Amino acid sequence: MNILVFIKQVPDTNEVKIDPVTKTLIREGVPSIINPDDKNALEEAIRIKEEYGAKVIVITMGPPQAETALREALAMGADEAYLLTDRVFAGADTYATAKTLSKMAKKFDYDIIFCGRQAIDGDTAQVGPQLAEQLNVPQVTYVKEVKIEGDTLIVKRALEDGYEVIKVKMPVLLTAIKELNTPRYPSIKGIFESYREKEVKIVTAADLGIDPQEVGLKGSPTKVISTTTPETQRAGEIFTGNVKECVQNLVQRLVEKHVI
Ligand SMILES: Cc1cc2nc3c(=O)[nH]c(=O)nc-3n(C[C@H](O)[C@H](O)[C@H](O)COP(=O)(O)OP(=O)(O)OC[C@H]3O[C@@H](n4cnc5c(N)ncnc54)[C@H](O)[C@@H]3O)c2cc1C
Repeated sequence: MNILVFIKQVPDTNEVKIDPVTKTLIREGVPSIINPDDKNALEEAIRIKEEYGAKVIVITMGPPQAETALREALAMGADEAYLLTDRVFAGADTYATAKTLSKMAKKFDYDIIFCGRQAIDGDTAQVGPQLAEQLNVPQVTYVKEVKIEGDTLIVKRALEDGYEVIKVKMPVLLTAIKELNTPRYPSIKGIFESYREKEVKIVTAADLGIDPQEVGLKGSPTKVISTTTPETQRAGEIFTGNVKECVQNLVQRLVEKHVI
């Protein structure tokens, strides 16, 4: 069984800040991590490998420094790692990202493809479903449990107020949520091996046989007109004095504003 896991390297923050002048992400001083949902996806792939036997192939599209995310995945237990990196991939929207990733996926005879539900920087949750569409395979999103029965998966899919149980034949694409499992920490041995014995293979647009016009910024139908972070417009008010005075002032202010 071959399992592809698509991971994205993201800034380690839930509060992405935008440079007000250049309108790009401020990455300085923010360490990078594997996107949290993608770690759950990877953990599940490794668990399936341990229980049923499988090859876990981890793939990312990103700048050269995304190699560290792949090394961490290898240290956790992935078998092969591929870094899709090329100037022409830069500036991709979700459509161009999914298109590029689908070209890579087609190089393998896969049974399961795992993605995270959502990346904490881009936040769209579109790449997994778009990838399934590009590959013309069924998809189950928001996956919180996976069981294998022959060539079929029994998958629990989280809903707002419960879950669905879905039976689906492989090949299939699943998007993982944090309820799926608790990702393991890489062992010291695993970390050493990921750098000394394992290889991160570099893949370019030419390797994928992609027309540069179809990927990256040029191949992205989404055009970002403007990006801003909301400005804080309401200043807080601090009451001074003893507790009784502060409470009286607070109540008066709340009455004035018709809150109480
Ligand atoms: C015009 C434009 C330019 C942009 N330029 C950039 C840019 O230069 N750099 C940038 O990071 N973003 C850029 N973006 C944002 C870009 O759309 C998303 O970051 C990217 O396509 C993934 O979408 P997302 O982060 O919302 O992922 P989601 O759809 O939320 O991700 C879901 C899952 O898909 C998989 N996945 C997502 N991205 C990747 C990836 N790159 N490799 C492997 N698996 C992946 C992961 O499993 C992830 O959990 C740009 C957007 C636009 C519109």
